[in-house]
Amino acid sequence: TTAAPEAPLDVLRRVFGYADFRGEQASIIDHVVAGGDALVLMPTGGGKSLCYQIPALVRPGTGVVISPLIALMQDQVDALSAVGVRAAFLNSTQDAAERHRVESELLAGDIDLLYLAPERLKLQQTLALLDRVPVGVFAIDEAHCVSQWGHDFRPDYLALSVLHERWPAVPRIALTATATEATRKEIAQRLDLAGARQFVSSFDRPNIQYRIDPKNQPLAQLLSLIKSEHSGDAGIVYCLSRASVEKTADALVAEGIPALPYHAGLTAQVRSRNQSRFLREDGVVMVATIAFGMGIDKPDVRFVAHLDLPKSVEGYYQETGRAGRDGLPSTAWLAYGLQDVVQQRRMIDEGEGDRAHKQRMGQHLDAMLALCETVSCRRQQLLGYFGQQSEACGNCDTCLSPPESWDGTVPAQKLLSTVVRLQRERNQRFGAGQLIDILLGKETERVRSNRHDELKTFGIGTELGDQEWRGVVRQLLSQGLLAVSADGYGTLVIAPAAAEVLDGSRRVMLRREPERTAKVTKQRAG
Ligand code: ADP
Ligand code: ZN
Repeated sequence: TTAAPEAPLDVLRRVFGYADFRGEQASIIDHVVAGGDALVLMPTGGGKSLCYQIPALVRPGTGVVISPLIALMQDQVDALSAVGVRAAFLNSTQDAAERHRVESELLAGDIDLLYLAPERLKLQQTLALLDRVPVGVFAIDEAHCVSQWGHDFRPDYLALSVLHERWPAVPRIALTATATEATRKEIAQRLDLAGARQFVSSFDRPNIQYRIDPKNQPLAQLLSLIKSEHSGDAGIVYCLSRASVEKTADALVAEGIPALPYHAGLTAQVRSRNQSRFLREDGVVMVATIAFGMGIDKPDVRFVAHLDLPKSVEGYYQETGRAGRDGLPSTAWLAYGLQDVVQQRRMIDEGEGDRAHKQRMGQHLDAMLALCETVSCRRQQLLGYFGQQSEACGNCDTCLSPPESWDGTVPAQKLLSTVVRLQRERNQRFGAGQLIDILLGKETERVRSNRHDELKTFGIGTELGDQEWRGVVRQLLSQGLLAVSADGYGTLVIAPAAAEVLDGSRRVMLRREPERTAKVTKQRAG
């Protein structure tokens, strides 16, 4: 048939059953329908999918969506099929017969939207296949995966420059929920999108209350968060390791909270069963590594908790962004401790990659630490990181109970000079625990056997308690005055910048944790 194409708004209403476009959706869709290239930055939950789905339906030919989320393709296709859109995917999980069926449908012109894993685009057979069908639009989802600077680089994405070279007349729309100015530039450059119009939505998620607490007893802290504020709510708890995922899930279940584990060590079957229970049942808490969540569309996730420090602000923003997609008040809570800093520095040092890579990872970590240690509004800092100016929000922990900043120069000097003395006088390095025992003058076995009670700094730090000292060490690490040594034991060494503190020419401002109770939420705005 050659009927005039349907208007985007009519498609929105007829096919998807929504009354109106949100935010910038209408202008993005109009631009792409008219044949323009677009680079779309929209936070998670902002409604990116419709920005390419509707152009795919309105423009003649098939819309081809490049997505790294192979595990979700089936769900996406099912959801589209349910509203009558002819969708299919091609990825490595299919056998030859299934692939062949999809290819025949595509060639017959029976597919509106085809999801494609990026690695398939490198195959000559895929390129040849796409040559034989009219393509209406190319969508590049999770476009930040092309950025080596970003936190989620996928080498296969580099091959996507082929799209423009091979099909210069087909409009392309690249979408991402996370991109600093630098990443944005890199996406535009690597995907040949320099001429594309950029649509940058606000990254603010005002209904999410951001909170970062010192990590004392993470499990007890998590339980208190769930029991006092989120009883019966769906939530996601992120842990760094598979072991802590399992341990945490077990502990929650033992407390009567319906929690399920999710990590790459579980079979595909168990993972997909747990994922669908989380999506379909009410009030399930998913305890997961970051392997979980990309592309998950569950509107009523009421809290996202991090029991370990995320590796980057981008990661943190993306993970916390899975809370409150329905716009209702939600909590993003992170417990962060000294051990996190030590562990992550060590992981960077011992991990793969060249010097430049490690340096980038170090910068990502520093930005994350700065967010943790800030004495000003968390949201302001977070949005500032993405290049967006804003006022103090009134709905984060530092706005609701402002931390004091205090002059910690003297304690910093005591701690740093202990490290220096151990290094110089004894040629020794120790972790935070021993350093603090020395400052507090504790006569432990380890102190005695090392004759640390003979050090000049033994017992000179009793003005602070053990927890406060841990806070000092943590902050000196994040301020780059202390460093984790490369010995693999997490011992601490002096950083070059510490010289100015020791000679008195530089003051050290520290953050004092306010006494905080669960009452924060009582004042919750929004
Ligand atoms: P993103 O990919 O940006 O994270 P999605 O495309 O998954 O977001 O959309 C998030 C949710 O918002 C989905 O449940 C989607 O159906 C819904 N949504 C998107 N656009 C609209 C709209 N114009 N009206 C109502 N709901 C919408
Ligand atoms: Zn704030």
